[in-house]
Amino acid sequence: MEGIYMIDLRSDTITQPTMEMRQAMFDATVGDDVYGEDPTVNRLEEMSAQLLGKEAGLFVTSGTQGNIISIMSQTTPGDEVIVEEASHVFNNETGSLSFIAGVQGKTIQGNNGQMDIEAIQRAIRGEDIHHPRTTLISLENSHGDSGGRVLPLDYMKDVYELAQKNHISVHLDGSRIFNAAIHLNVEVDTIAQYADTVQFCLSKGLSAPMGSVVVGPKDVINRARKWRKSLGGGTRQAGVVAAAGIVGLEKMRGRLKEDHEKASHLATGLATFGCFDIQVADVDTNIVIISTKKLGISAHVFVEKLYARGILAGALDDDHVRFVTHRQVEMACIDQTIQAAGAIVNEIR
Ligand SMILES: *Cc1c(COP(=O)(O)O)cnc(C)c1O
Repeated sequence: MEGIYMIDLRSDTITQPTMEMRQAMFDATVGDDVYGEDPTVNRLEEMSAQLLGKEAGLFVTSGTQGNIISIMSQTTPGDEVIVEEASHVFNNETGSLSFIAGVQGKTIQGNNGQMDIEAIQRAIRGEDIHHPRTTLISLENSHGDSGGRVLPLDYMKDVYELAQKNHISVHLDGSRIFNAAIHLNVEVDTIAQYADTVQFCLSKGLSAPMGSVVVGPKDVINRARKWRKSLGGGTRQAGVVAAAGIVGLEKMRGRLKEDHEKASHLATGLATFGCFDIQVADVDTNIVIISTKKLGISAHVFVEKLYARGILAGALDDDHVRFVTHRQVEMACIDQTIQAAGAIVNEIR
């Protein structure tokens, strides 16, 4: 590690590839993936499909690319897609829903990522010459904006059944689906069964240097492969990076549990100060969000004060600070973070 050592709790995306990943990348057998001839990419795609219980998979550059490609493969420009108001697809993907996919987002307010089932039902358009066609519902599990909250299985089942009844598809932004699976204590295909397509990230807690995978029915994935090409995502000897993704899937899923323990420990420690508006029971996975409102300072100032104590965190807005736990913060770093927060509280009060 170069420079001053910082405890970096901004995101699980900062995780560096493990030595085993680097070795696998070095050793990877590769070919031209645009010809479908990279055996390592093919293996990652097959593994992914199998793991999530789908017919086929597609290795993509990023979660953002995977989401937009999934949406494009299941809609036609002019259609309407039902999205949760705080979802990543709607808020954090530069508006690609409208300007790349050419679809209209119909937002529904959510509660920890859960849109009311009846509100979804009402949002689905009937036959009318004036209306767009509703062709897709997008869900997010775990849900980032609410602090990594997990959608319950029965909720996902209800949404999926409603979608099927109305002949519309469900896309799951499962960027952190492995975190959700650990929280629910189920295999990941148990979650994925309630969506037609799923995108998951290799580059977050799983620690691969880059990449996501989209899984779904063969015909959808075939279309997705073409859209990936349109968006400049057709790559050549991509097995060099896919190899790290394979190690991520094989070796790194189980250890995400430790990240959840660290987040829970952090929330427990921060809750003792009584001013951060944090409920330990609300921490489902590896994200902790606190409010600095009661303390009377802005989230930006709080983040600066943490920085001065060697800790990096993210200000979500004027009042909220986000911490994301991952492989590269030890439990001792969490204790240090709690101590630093306590020192800031004492300084302010
Ligand atoms: C990270 C993330 C994405 C986007 O992934 P990138 O690889 O950063 O493009 C999409 N949705 C959610 C919920 C995420 O956490």
